[in-house]
Amino acid sequence: MLPSLFISHGSPMLALTPGPAHDFLRDFGATLSPKAIVVVSAHWASERLLVSTSERPETIHDFGGFPRALFECQYPAPGDPELALKLARKLNAVPLERGLDHGAWVPLSLMFPAADVPVVSLSLPVTWSNQDLVELGEKLAKLREEGVLVVGSGSLTHNLAEMQAQGTPMPAWVGEFSDWIFDKLTSGERDALLAWETAPQAHRNHPTPEHFQPLLVALGAGGEASRLHHSVEHGVLAMDLYAFA
Ligand code: ZN
Repeated sequence: MLPSLFISHGSPMLALTPGPAHDFLRDFGATLSPKAIVVVSAHWASERLLVSTSERPETIHDFGGFPRALFECQYPAPGDPELALKLARKLNAVPLERGLDHGAWVPLSLMFPAADVPVVSLSLPVTWSNQDLVELGEKLAKLREEGVLVVGSGSLTHNLAEMQAQGTPMPAWVGEFSDWIFDKLTSGERDALLAWETAPQAHRNHPTPEHFQPLLVALGAGGEASRLHHSVEHGVLAMDLYAFA
């Protein structure tokens, strides 16, 4: 059975620039063969739960100030309207047409470069409680038995105002938070994770919660946590990837 995943997508340049996280996603993706992917991205924040029924989701370039080559990237993976409508009914989500934002297509373009695995986007209902987001994941867990890869895409730490030059080592305040999350996830302390805002340096690492929240969905959708990748970009973006098997 497939694990659910929490992927740190970092900067959109991850799509084009080789480095530890980029290289890891390429190698790791090659070990998986899902029949479809359901992705909850930090970049589709909503109030109500929404689900994309697009048959051919467009590649959304939802960022600015990057090289032209990044705007020319296309990720033409098909959608799966049938699965999307099934999810809409099961989760009481609103069906609509929407493409793939960069939280979805950047990591998936590395993991599944052939773009031949159908992708269904679920929105991130940012006003939901931590418990609600874990329960949303629990409702997705059964999909794993059917060969569907459930992905939460965010960033383990995400303070864009404190970004450093590429290659800067991780400062202590980033390490403290990511170590705390590692300890709680790998020891299965779900109650502590439901109060992650009280973790050391939580607010500094997540001035807003949307890049952490997809982890709660992945946590609910899977079982025991293991950290498959740990690196940092721009000093402050921890690129950790967790599998919940
Ligand atoms: Zn992001």
